[in-house]
Amino acid sequence: MIIDAKRIENILSDIKQPNAYEVDDILAKASLLNGLNLEDAAVLVSVEDPHILKTIFIRAGEVKEKVFGKRIVLFAPLYLSNYCINNCLYCGFRKGNKDAVRKALSIDEVMQEAKILEAKGFKRILLVCGEEPKVSSMEYIIEAVDAIYKTTGIRIIHVNSPPMDSVDLKRLKASGVGVYQVFQETYHRPTYALMHPSGKKRNYDYRLGVMDRAMEAGFEDVGIGSLLGLYDYKFDVLATLAHSQHLFKRFGAYAHTISVPRLRPADGSSVKDAPFSVSDLEFKKVVAVYRLAVPCAGVVVSTREAAVMRDEVIQIGASQISAGSKTEPGGYASVGTVSTVQPVEQFSTNDHRGLEEMIASIIRHGFMPSLCTTCYRVGRTGADFTGKTLSGNMEKFCQANALLTLQEYLLDYVQNGARELGESAIEKGLQEIKETGLKKEVLKKLDEIRQGKRDVFL
Ligand code: SAM
Ligand code: SF4
Repeated sequence: MIIDAKRIENILSDIKQPNAYEVDDILAKASLLNGLNLEDAAVLVSVEDPHILKTIFIRAGEVKEKVFGKRIVLFAPLYLSNYCINNCLYCGFRKGNKDAVRKALSIDEVMQEAKILEAKGFKRILLVCGEEPKVSSMEYIIEAVDAIYKTTGIRIIHVNSPPMDSVDLKRLKASGVGVYQVFQETYHRPTYALMHPSGKKRNYDYRLGVMDRAMEAGFEDVGIGSLLGLYDYKFDVLATLAHSQHLFKRFGAYAHTISVPRLRPADGSSVKDAPFSVSDLEFKKVVAVYRLAVPCAGVVVSTREAAVMRDEVIQIGASQISAGSKTEPGGYASVGTVSTVQPVEQFSTNDHRGLEEMIASIIRHGFMPSLCTTCYRVGRTGADFTGKTLSGNMEKFCQANALLTLQEYLLDYVQNGARELGESAIEKGLQEIKETGLKKEVLKKLDEIRQGKRDVFL
């Protein structure tokens, strides 16, 4: 059994409002990077006292830094198609949204979108699509992946798509996709049934089993998540952690990423207010608990969240964020154009800062922006990635590659004041590298980049 709902409910019902001593004990364990069992995670996720929460946030930030250093990875989504046979009540793409303008990008349009993202400096993108087998078939997705790799400088493509069978997953893996992502939305079966009234997505178990199928099919890195707002967040957080633990038990690797999507307004959705709304403080708690419970995971916070929130969560455990996102197919090419037939967005975004602004903001908050894509391309994946991160051996790669990719970005994409800001961040980042050999190596590689070499990494 992947998720034992009864057990999670029992754990939560046993929790009394935790005191500071109890929380300190749990945080001491988490600081050793061993992660947390469900019982300990349940205690943390139940804390309401703002003072105790503050301590949890500080520890989560420290754990993030031990594991990945100061780096914050940046990416952009690329929406292929908004056709969908499903009827997820919360989504703008749902079939019942009869007024929606539908669009599936041609392969030329896919390349155009990818080239726009490349021209902004992105190296990592996430392909996203609705579920309509006649439109976004496996052939189509693979053609899109091939075209982007062949015609642009995008270095890694991740995919967030409807769940697939093993044959398709093997083909997708063979096309060079890095992380395969599917969110369970809610692990609570009755709510899942309510939110997904028709279409293939009604099948809870088929969706839940997709990460097992993906890992059997050769994906070493998979991404999971719960859509916050559909059901009691405490239940869904524990279930997400249980899912990650299940993957570790079976495959030796925890979920590579845990995304933290929170319900947003969407044109044509039939959920106007979140049935279980999650406050900003609760949202931050969820980010921190994911970080403490699965230290090696990329904790992903998208542009569903406002700028203020995203600036805060990078301090308390988030390690990957998107920038300048568009959630409709063709959204990047259509910027600045006026059309009465604009394809429907999946949901409205809440942080409209572009890549350069995001990079500057990350630096100003004392962190290091990273456009690194190395691990997927050199095989630091799956169990190897889990082992290296949990033993504290990934941070040095992350820090070095963040500096190298920032240098490349500054030279190729930035002309104005952000360049100075970036150069001084690189200087500061270099000073923070304590190992002499490593520092020498990074200095050498920085020099190679200044001489014109590209795609340089450790
Ligand atoms: N259609 C596929 C699926 O449902 O698995 C692919 C991914 S879907 C386009 C991406 C994710 O967006 C969904 O899994 C869901 O969690 C999230 N999403 C959908 N509607 C949303 C909304 N109104 N606010 C925030 N996130 C939403
Ligand atoms: Fe379709 Fe995915 Fe939206 Fe559901 S969440 S309606 S499956 S695009």
